[in-house]
Amino acid sequence: MYDVLVVGSANADLTVRVERRPGAGETVLGTDLVETAGGKGANQAAAAARLGGRTALLARVGGDAFGELLLAAQREAGTDVAPVIVDAAARTGTAMIIVSPDGDNSIVVSPGANAALSPRDVAAAKDIIAASSVVSLQLEIPMESVRAAAATAEDACTRVVLNPSPAPEALAPELLASADPLVVNEHEARQLSGLTDGKPAEWAYALREKGARSVVVTLGGDGALVLDASGAQDVPGVRVKAVDTTGAGDAFTGALVTRLARGDALPDAARFAVRVGAAAVTRPGAQPSYPSLAELDELPE
Ligand code: ATP
Repeated sequence: MYDVLVVGSANADLTVRVERRPGAGETVLGTDLVETAGGKGANQAAAAARLGGRTALLARVGGDAFGELLLAAQREAGTDVAPVIVDAAARTGTAMIIVSPDGDNSIVVSPGANAALSPRDVAAAKDIIAASSVVSLQLEIPMESVRAAAATAEDACTRVVLNPSPAPEALAPELLASADPLVVNEHEARQLSGLTDGKPAEWAYALREKGARSVVVTLGGDGALVLDASGAQDVPGVRVKAVDTTGAGDAFTGALVTRLARGDALPDAARFAVRVGAAAVTRPGAQPSYPSLAELDELPE
């Protein structure tokens, strides 16, 4: 029924640019507020759907205007939002983002409805999980719900892709063992492998040693490293003028899962995902920056 079911967070990103970050007790003036659709789960679903993957999202939003904004953005991307639970009593998750001229972000996240996405919600979506080729998971919802989604997918022989972000101290062994692949950026790779230095291939082998079935390490402008049964392979980056890297990792993962669902081998799916990640950094914002297949053709080889 679906190529990809994303189980994860949906946040309204509220962004203001400032000349300088306020100190404790201080007030500064900023630009007009910009509201965009974000949250790692919603971002990955939007990326997958925009690339033509048959995509559904299991998430929770509040019965407020931000919830409407997030649902509208998913519908526009082509995601089936039927599994999204609108909780009239909750507030939609928000990320309050302050951007200073050096490009550094300070972010406060209010999880809101995301914190209520429960193992019971996952159990109610059992048939959708079984009817999907891939379930894509991140860590912005309660950990017990992520574990329930991975276990339900395993029982149904649905492939699990896990992006352990924000980086936890450690992952439960059975959750790590369900990841095929585990998709990590450099920071997450170091944190979870326990290797503070070394090379991406070493982090990937260490993560496989710890139980992941396969591993992808994303490397910003340098592309990615893939480790599967055929060994480790570098996937070179695509040279572009980076304008805003927000949500690039989610664009990558959304693209990767779409191709895995269609039967691509992991290195081929990663080559496609590197192009999608590169396209996403050429435009501002997270979801608004995600390309369609037609837009990808305009990228250099
Ligand atoms: P973010 O937290 O900004 O969403 P991330 O740290 O999870 O990103 P990265 O490894 O920085 O993930 O980027 C993911 C993918 O996006 C890369 O594999 C690459 O395809 C693309 N990408 C990111 N930055 C650049 C860049 N400067 N030039 C080209 N491609 C990029």
